[in-house]
Amino acid sequence: MSTHQVTLLPDEEIERNFREIAPALTDAEALFEANRCVYCYDAPCTHACPTHIDVPSFIKKIASGNLLGSARAIFDANPIGATCARVCPVEVLCEGACVEKTLMHKPIEIGRLQRYATDFVLAAGLDVLKAGAPNGKSVGVVGSGPAGLTCATYLARLGYDVTVYERKQLPGGLDTYGMAEYKMTQRVSTEEARAVERLGVRFRLGVEVGRDISFEELEAAHDGVFLGVGLGETGRLDIPGEELEGVYDALYVIERIKSRRWETVPLGRAVAVVGAGNTAIDAVTQARRLGAERVMLVYRRGPAEMPAYEYEYTLAKQDAVEFLWQTAPVEVIADAGGKRVAGLRCVRTEPGEPDASGRRSVRPVEGSEFDVPADTVIKATGQQKMREFFASVPGVGVDSAGHVQVDPETMRTGNPKFFAGGDCVNGGREAVDASQMGKLAAQGIHLALTGERVEFAGARVPLHEETQNLKAH
Ligand SMILES: Cc1cc2nc3c(=O)[nH]c(=O)nc-3n(C[C@H](O)[C@H](O)[C@H](O)COP(=O)(O)OP(=O)(O)OC[C@H]3O[C@@H](n4cnc5c(N)ncnc54)[C@H](O)[C@@H]3O)c2cc1C
Ligand code: SF4
Repeated sequence: MSTHQVTLLPDEEIERNFREIAPALTDAEALFEANRCVYCYDAPCTHACPTHIDVPSFIKKIASGNLLGSARAIFDANPIGATCARVCPVEVLCEGACVEKTLMHKPIEIGRLQRYATDFVLAAGLDVLKAGAPNGKSVGVVGSGPAGLTCATYLARLGYDVTVYERKQLPGGLDTYGMAEYKMTQRVSTEEARAVERLGVRFRLGVEVGRDISFEELEAAHDGVFLGVGLGETGRLDIPGEELEGVYDALYVIERIKSRRWETVPLGRAVAVVGAGNTAIDAVTQARRLGAERVMLVYRRGPAEMPAYEYEYTLAKQDAVEFLWQTAPVEVIADAGGKRVAGLRCVRTEPGEPDASGRRSVRPVEGSEFDVPADTVIKATGQQKMREFFASVPGVGVDSAGHVQVDPETMRTGNPKFFAGGDCVNGGREAVDASQMGKLAAQGIHLALTGERVEFAGARVPLHEETQNLKAH
């Protein structure tokens, strides 16, 4: 990576720009909001939540002042409930399904109520979940993102001796290193990880499986293994100039932002972000909030086809981001010295024929080349699948799209000792989906190792009923 440029706004202003967009409710606000809920029978909000948290139950407990019980109902179904309260796309999940959205044109603020209850126990350092009596069996969990943390939690509750292997220095996966800073800081996800640790789960941070410890060693050390390794680096643009200084992977830039050491974030004055998923939106909005003067989102299709959620798009518009629709980069232009980025050469595109999935291809418009001046180019074209990693795990297969193949009920892979879940299986969705898969995997591991079926809160609804509205990061 190249040397960094300085950020443009004074630190105090940046701190202001990164204030939470959905701040905590006051006690009075929470009580008012909880009392608006009509406690639906067979509540649609619970169905819409991929972890099927019993929403009316936790809201009712807030209304009656039982915050501990409320948090217990949340964490029982989703051990990363404090994170999800902040980062879930509630507009298309629980709040999107809330009957009050139709009746009163204003859904109950489920996300912020969930935050209210879970913040209470995190702030008080209370543990609402208990470890089970040791059952003499051991499981290795690879990756400490939402999938790994959740799987580890349920296994500890069943009495397993659990070790989490994490190549990064902090636990939490993308919850810690990827979420837009105005949605959530690292404090929340690392506190949730600490709660998992207090259940007796061991964390081996800075340990990369496949490099620092082999799969054979892992298999020998544990009765079962869960793979929650997520996805890889952002895909290449495969255009000339991609190696120039000033071209970055969006995840690298966002990770620097998450450290809150603003001076280390590699941004210039004019930033071009390639891609239009939620990660691209996170990159453009955060670049603006750091002070980049001109921030452009470059996408080869039109706004109707962008993978980002509508509300994320609205956020970017509010942040005065420029959108270059039907535009594809063909070259990163170098400065006079030949080393640094000076701009992005682009072509206009037009819609082509629909492909097998019904999505229209795009084709370049002849003679439409134009240059966009930029001193920073950020690639946000989606994370790659970790095909090579999985090729080295005996018996674990991936499908043609690079997703790990599992039994959808037990999350068991083709290798009976290995289970998998999260982004590496679903190709990249939301934290809450990864959490649900971690839960199902814990049940599957328990069934495989003991023959006993358990069912944790919110585990029953089959996966295909979930996540219908979800879009890609
Ligand atoms: C920029 C960005 C923003 C996002 N924003 C949102 C959002 O606002 N809301 C939302 O719900 N979702 C969001 N998502 C999606 C969400 O982050 C993922 O769906 C979720 O984190 C997937 O969880 P996971 O556990 O499968 O993988 P990850 O969170 O990626 O965790 C995988 C972990 O495995 C570790 N690992 C990988 N390989 C190894 C190895 N060999 N040895 C040891 N450890 C290893 C990694 O370091 C990582 O910690 C976002 C994603 C991105 C990229
Ligand atoms: S759908 Fe809305 S009103 Fe009904 S239980 Fe859920 S939050 Fe309450």
